[in-house]
Amino acid sequence: MTLHIVIIGGGASGTLAAAHLLRQRETPRQLRLTLVEAHHEIGCGIAYSTPDSCHILNTRVQNMSAFPDEPDHFSRYLAREGLGSGEPMSFVSRKVYGRYLQELLADGSGQSAVPRLAFLRQECVGLTEHAHGVEVKLADGSVVPCHHAILATGYARDGRSQTALEDPWCPTTKHDPDRPVILIGTGLTMVDMVLSLLGRGHRAPIYALSRRGLLPQPHRVTRPLKLSAADIPFGTSLAYLLRWMRATIHDHVATGGDWRDVIDGLRPHTQALWRHLPAASRARFLRHVSSLWDTHRHRMPPESETRIRALLANGQLSILRGAFQGAAREDGETRITYRAAGSGTLETLSAQYAIDCRGFRRLQPPITTPLLASLIGEGQAAIDPLGLGLVFDRDDRLVDQAGRSHARIFGLGPLTRATHWEITAVPDIREQAARLAARLLDHDQPQAIETPVSHRR
Ligand SMILES: Cc1cc2nc3c(=O)[nH]c(=O)nc-3n(C[C@H](O)[C@H](O)[C@H](O)COP(=O)(O)OP(=O)(O)OC[C@H]3O[C@@H](n4cnc5c(N)ncnc54)[C@H](O)[C@@H]3O)c2cc1C
Repeated sequence: MTLHIVIIGGGASGTLAAAHLLRQRETPRQLRLTLVEAHHEIGCGIAYSTPDSCHILNTRVQNMSAFPDEPDHFSRYLAREGLGSGEPMSFVSRKVYGRYLQELLADGSGQSAVPRLAFLRQECVGLTEHAHGVEVKLADGSVVPCHHAILATGYARDGRSQTALEDPWCPTTKHDPDRPVILIGTGLTMVDMVLSLLGRGHRAPIYALSRRGLLPQPHRVTRPLKLSAADIPFGTSLAYLLRWMRATIHDHVATGGDWRDVIDGLRPHTQALWRHLPAASRARFLRHVSSLWDTHRHRMPPESETRIRALLANGQLSILRGAFQGAAREDGETRITYRAAGSGTLETLSAQYAIDCRGFRRLQPPITTPLLASLIGEGQAAIDPLGLGLVFDRDDRLVDQAGRSHARIFGLGPLTRATHWEITAVPDIREQAARLAARLLDHDQPQAIETPVSHRR
């Protein structure tokens, strides 16, 4: 019996899932995969669809292989394709990385290069699990039966949108290089947008606003501190954990090390740390520590840092500290309101347009994306109490509103953030994809499912 797995979402997560499943199956004839992607080219998703070459990966080539046990897979690809040197310590563009992911599965025309893998350009709008399989419902009314479904749909999004703000990845306003631009958020997306503006010859001021005005820290060459599970104070309070982290950094720096070595040394343990944190500590972490953590953990390439520093020094880029309150479009410009940090006064600022660079935002009802709305509406899925995504168990099985794990519906990537916290970067997602592939392929002998692999209306 052929095992049929449907992956919903063809971004980095879905592509890595397919690549790991195809790689692990010793007898590929017994495995069939369907990758359902609604909008983007396979492999690209939101992060790697950018055509802009100045959008650089914030992770070194040596950490971006699709396969953790083959760390030079990406650098060999770069060298083979003549895309830069393939130098492991370098940073290449996200566009190039999208192509790499795409070519794991597709041929030059975007068609599946693997006989046992089918691409469906469709939106999945619902899932129904039954004893031996899952029915995957598509927007055109068709249903694809399979044995397992993997949700790899990226960050869960809700219906809140600031229509007066531009989507960073889908701009609509014609750019005028001589009029100011406002960026809401001061993280890695802000850095990307600043570099894009410069690439388009922007000459006017750029204002970037966030509550604390923290910029991503720059990468340096690190030597991750070797930390074993026994070194980490699992299960302690957040306050204790932070004290321990500060003391570890202090001691390491005192002996000539770099703070980044400690942050990078913690990487293999971060997901377990999150799982061990009590719910109240997780909430406190999100409220008080996460922006500081993110700026230290998710760093910018040195090239980007140099350019950002130059703009700050010459005054073209200004960082504003304050809480964004809202935005409105009037007379061809965008006016934003924010509450200034410190003084607490309400301030306004106008520009030709403002871009929403806040990245991930907490999930809140009402949910408008059809798939999530249907899963939640039917009680098949629950929003995590902190709004980080849907609830999954430790084995990445979707958990319903009664707290029961689905046997055949799994999650992968940022959608599972409530369970793992650090599950947005490729080095984390590829590990999760490898684990999930091994788990699914170890599953019991598949049972017959209704009209396998065919479409029916
Ligand atoms: C701007 C940016 C830069 C980043 N840079 C780096 C980096 O340098 N290094 C690094 O390690 N990580 C980076 N990341 C993080 C990381 O690579 C992403 O988190 C990762 O790409 C997530 O991929 P995904 O497939 O889960 O989500 P997405 O990229 O959001 O893809 C999900 C896909 O699912 C499709 N989809 C959603 N719902 C449905 C549906 N119902 N039916 C069919 N299709 C559906 C969407 O169309 C989309 O293509 C970056 C992220 C962003 C946003």
